[in-house]
Amino acid sequence: MTERYGYTGKILRVDLSSGKITHTPTADYADRFLGGRGIATKIYWDEVPAGVSAFDPENRMIFVTGPLAGFSGLAGSRWQVCGKAPAMTPEEFSYCNLGGRWGGQLKFAGYDGLVIQGKSDKPVYLFVEDDVVEIRDASALWGKSTVAAREILKEELGSTVAVVACGPAGENLVSYAIILADNDASGSSGFGAVMGSKKLKAIAVRGKGKVTAANPDKLKEVREYIRQLLYKGPHYAEQIAKLETHIEAVQGQKIRRDLCLGCTGYGGRVILESRDGQKRGKSLCGSSLFYLDKAMKYYGERNEVPFYVNRLCDEYGVDALAIESMMKWLSRCWHTGILTDENTGIPLSKAGSWEYMEALVTKMSLRDGFGDVLAQGIEKAADAVGNGAKELIADYVSKAGHLLTYCPRTFPVHGLLYALEPRQAVNQLHEMGLALFQWINWANGLEGAYLSSDVFRKIGARFWGSELAADFSTYDGKGLAATKIQDREYAKECLILCDFAWPIVHTLAGDHVGDPSVESRMLSAVTGLEVDEEGLYRIGERVFNMQRAIHIREGHKGRESDMIPEAFFTTPLKGHAMNPNAQAPGKDGEITSRIGMVVDRAEFERMKGEYYQLRGWDVASGLQTKTKLEKLDLHEIAQELGPRGLAV
Ligand code: SF4
Repeated sequence: MTERYGYTGKILRVDLSSGKITHTPTADYADRFLGGRGIATKIYWDEVPAGVSAFDPENRMIFVTGPLAGFSGLAGSRWQVCGKAPAMTPEEFSYCNLGGRWGGQLKFAGYDGLVIQGKSDKPVYLFVEDDVVEIRDASALWGKSTVAAREILKEELGSTVAVVACGPAGENLVSYAIILADNDASGSSGFGAVMGSKKLKAIAVRGKGKVTAANPDKLKEVREYIRQLLYKGPHYAEQIAKLETHIEAVQGQKIRRDLCLGCTGYGGRVILESRDGQKRGKSLCGSSLFYLDKAMKYYGERNEVPFYVNRLCDEYGVDALAIESMMKWLSRCWHTGILTDENTGIPLSKAGSWEYMEALVTKMSLRDGFGDVLAQGIEKAADAVGNGAKELIADYVSKAGHLLTYCPRTFPVHGLLYALEPRQAVNQLHEMGLALFQWINWANGLEGAYLSSDVFRKIGARFWGSELAADFSTYDGKGLAATKIQDREYAKECLILCDFAWPIVHTLAGDHVGDPSVESRMLSAVTGLEVDEEGLYRIGERVFNMQRAIHIREGHKGRESDMIPEAFFTTPLKGHAMNPNAQAPGKDGEITSRIGMVVDRAEFERMKGEYYQLRGWDVASGLQTKTKLEKLDLHEIAQELGPRGLAV
């Protein structure tokens, strides 16, 4: 299957305007950009000029797997999608990554990636099975839900085919439209609408290929080591149980685990079945939780409404987390009287009910009545409503319409991680965020909790550059911590590893400090290339710089644009359901509360300066330097941005 281990050697290219199907060698990209986000970003840099809008046929949808895809026990079969994203305000390059098994099937079919360009004049779907690649008529699928389209294709092509599809929201170019694949893996940034704009309803893939590691013995050894880090100790079953009980399952619903292809086995991904056995669907993380509180308040008890709402969003193909901030805004507009049940046709007075959400999601997805206003995204909808509606958008919303979590008033370093990304980079926030939750258990004396202040400091030194990273009372050391987190997480997005499984920041074993070198060892075992931890981070840094260059080319203004919502500087922090006392480690590991904190504006700017310096960028402007770009082997970027004054 492979010329070089870990890769199939080919990237499939489909032009929907001309119907032309070709492929290019992965080797053109793999050395410098590895896979996943890295290769996708490079293709975007080369092929999508700055002025191209998200729905322009020249925009690309770039799907890329990584060198670890298809191998078992590594949680490395995720796949990345990049392109100009309509969910962003303003539109810009963005990304999403998905689990399930679609990425693995693409690789088994013989392709490391798939680049879609152009636009069909009638609805089509793409069928890929090894050497057979066909653009087929999809008129019978158009208008169907994501799940129905998937089921119809499986019926027709066989259940082993993996399908990614857009729903009615994507067909109607709703800016928050998602793509949905097998195992209900979903991807946001509005890529469902990009698919819709290309009249591409679905992509069905299946392959007979197999993956082979360059060094199977070494891979076996690494797998055993991972197992030891993840499973050792009596808490494993307990942790899985916790993962499975934070979801919205209610009594009488059936629940079964539904892991992605190649998972480490540690995942908490589950499928729920409704009490009446009629509905089945994933329950995972934010999308399963976003309607829970509201429904509880409305009905006064836990019921199946949050589950049905989650399904509704998936079926129409809209981003549940963008709906969450939309709901907040609608509710504020309703309380001030700007919007009413009558002038929207949505029962705003019944927020939390099934009827409310059914009307909201359906109208938005079909662009029906007021739904046509909402379909443009929250910013444009607020402009269209006027009467001060814009001021009522929630204070902490990302450019992609998501409510920001893991707040920088608690985590000073997160100010940088927010400011430097087009969307909320949850994987970066998880590195410190999830460790903090474990520390809170320890701070509150929970039995068996092992992540003490001492362990946190050691983790800081090993993962984030210094022990200072674990002192939340100061901005010192946070510029360095941000570079470490970004470089590691960009490498992870290239590999492309699951965020729920990687990195292993802490462990039950030994001194409880995890091991960030495992990723490079897996890569070496699979590809046969000698890549160490630092070598992997250099690739992450290169890809991160390439993304920065794309944003600069698309209008980002360096230091001036590297900002966070104003409210973080002005509104004191309150407790949060997950951390009611806003506990965090302070100086010397002291247990402190961040209640009442704001981000210090002067310190934030100082932290940015420290960060730019460490990155080798220009401290005053925040622009990249030609010298650093050359050093990162990004000559083409230095040559393009330099003469235009976009790199100094
Ligand atoms: S940890 Fe969860 S999301 Fe990640 S690969 Fe495993 S099942 Fe999939």
